[in-house]
Amino acid sequence: MAATAYPDVMDKLVSLSKRRGFIFQSSEIYGGTGSVWDYGPLGVELKKNLKELWWASMVRLRDDIEGLDAAILMHPRTWEASGHVAGFTDPLVDCKVCKGRFRADKLEDARCPQKPSRQPGQHDACQLTEPRMFNLMFKTFMGPVEESASTVYLRPETAQGIFVNFLNVQQSCRQKVPFGIAQIGKAFRNEITPGNFIFRTREFEQMEMQYFVEPGTDMEHFEQWKADRMAWHKSLGLSADRLQYHQHEAGELAHYARAAFDINFDFGGTLGFQEIEGIHNRGDFDLSQHQQFSGKKLEYFDQQANKRYLPYVIETSVGADRTTLAVLVNGYREEDVAGEDEGRVVLGLHPALAPIKAAVFPLTKKDGQPEMATRLAGELRRAFNADYDATGSIGKRYRRQDEIGTPFCVTIDSESAADQSVTIRERDSLAQVRVAMDQVRSWVQDRITA
Ligand code: ATP
Repeated sequence: MAATAYPDVMDKLVSLSKRRGFIFQSSEIYGGTGSVWDYGPLGVELKKNLKELWWASMVRLRDDIEGLDAAILMHPRTWEASGHVAGFTDPLVDCKVCKGRFRADKLEDARCPQKPSRQPGQHDACQLTEPRMFNLMFKTFMGPVEESASTVYLRPETAQGIFVNFLNVQQSCRQKVPFGIAQIGKAFRNEITPGNFIFRTREFEQMEMQYFVEPGTDMEHFEQWKADRMAWHKSLGLSADRLQYHQHEAGELAHYARAAFDINFDFGGTLGFQEIEGIHNRGDFDLSQHQQFSGKKLEYFDQQANKRYLPYVIETSVGADRTTLAVLVNGYREEDVAGEDEGRVVLGLHPALAPIKAAVFPLTKKDGQPEMATRLAGELRRAFNADYDATGSIGKRYRRQDEIGTPFCVTIDSESAADQSVTIRERDSLAQVRVAMDQVRSWVQDRITA
């Protein structure tokens, strides 16, 4: 992917994430597990906020989409019907010299371990094997005895849990086509070349929605979803110039897809524009495959028109981890501060995404200020995450909150007891306003939902 104007901030984010408790390497004390990550106290809040925003826009605020939480383990026939057993493969090449393993279709994104750093195959010494197909599904066994038990797979996508429940949801909720089913859950892929922090991992979370429509109306819905999903990414605060569509041309289209667009985000540096969400018109491929493999009719009965048919599916599939990374990359900035020697690091997160919405500081440890600040923080916590900090100078406390994306810092000072008001300092504009103590909660709340 071509280099872009945005700098590469990945190393800085990895270090900030560890230092401040956003994301840690999995099993770090044992030397880490390859490309698996754990979300720390702030990271879990950030990702949870992101998932809640998705759930609100897809399920809570709509009456035509229902939620679902299907199991990770599914009947093995599911993966035969979906085409994953036969075809969920990536082309793998090995280098006989450096023993590196690479995805043959992503060589331009990979680096050979030999110096100077080049694309695999570009050093004279490189000896790449012919590509061979490698299935990305993790296999395990169900039942106590390995040999006699049946093989099951850790799901490589959440979508199939939705397809097999299509009629259960439609009938139990009395939904009429067009309607959708949405779910958030873990997916597992034994990626050949994971990396770039939480961009490509072997265990990750997807937020997927399948919208069932009458054949013939599919492209109209497809266009609508394309626009809606782009608008959602912008509503998270991702810069418009870092987002673009990528259309899958004929050769790139999955065998089941009638049309596909990705939403790409510019991660900066050499990574550049990469997919964060896929929007696919899957036709009736999935329902007809499951109908055939299960022997169960999955047709929808349209009572008004008195006809039965297999709906077409428009899918929107977005990675919770990859979008979390996009939000972190988009928000990270280093700034000079007028009149101060030391600059500041800021995570410019949308207030709805920020792990902590407000931090409350007593200006000094005198005049009952700590007690008032503790009381106020307790009151704010009833509505959202709030922090209390009394250590170090006010400047240091601001810096600590800026770096983790806290949008509002609330200071109790010597006037507060008398006038029952506080100063709120805004992270991005640095503007300071005086707000009545009993209004702080609604003042912050209004700006979280804005
Ligand atoms: P890629 O081409 O990057 O491998 P894909 O086209 O296989 O992605 P989809 O199967 O369309 O991805 O999955 C939908 C979304 O799930 C992606 O847009 C991405 O946000 C997320 N995703 C897919 N694979 C991974 C992974 N290994 N790690 C983290 N997120 C992933």
